[in-house]
Amino acid sequence: METFEHKTENESETWELAHQIASKLKPGDVLTLEGDLGAGKTTFTKGIAKGLGINQVVNSPTFTIIKEYQGDIPLYHMDVYRLDDESEELGLEEYFEGDGVSVIEWPTRITEQLPEERLDIQVAYRSEHERSFILMPRGDRYIELCKELEKK
Ligand code: ADP
Ligand code: MG
Repeated sequence: METFEHKTENESETWELAHQIASKLKPGDVLTLEGDLGAGKTTFTKGIAKGLGINQVVNSPTFTIIKEYQGDIPLYHMDVYRLDDESEELGLEEYFEGDGVSVIEWPTRITEQLPEERLDIQVAYRSEHERSFILMPRGDRYIELCKELEKK
């Protein structure tokens, strides 16, 4: 699988990257974020939210599993870290096929329920302020999106 790496040197560069990605997203898109605690998954999601025209404060949904935000395009922010076997009862598919962009932190718990076409992102901690975002597009649309991102 072709991967696309973007390094950020600080939090605002992560926002900038997320903002650029957000500008290319459309309703029904699905992004997953994997990476250790403190890597920057939620920070990245805040940048996505801003880019989707969401003015509400976005914070970690760890205790609620799914949070919905209204914007130019809605955001469905999920953190399935605490999820166990009940995940199917949440009706996640309806979100994935809905009118918003879904961003899922800790997707490994629900891999089987994810759509095949999606943008998987691995967030790696490099040093106190350095992070690496490794984009792994699944499906032509997301491959195209990643290539567009590299053009600028
Ligand atoms: P996660 O959701 O992966 O647990 P968070 O986004 O909640 O991580 O936390 C990331 C922390 O790392 C924040 O305190 C943020 O300020 C800090 N940070 C430092 N450098 C960066 C960077 N380049 N990108 C994102 N976050 C960074
Ligand atoms: Mg988080």
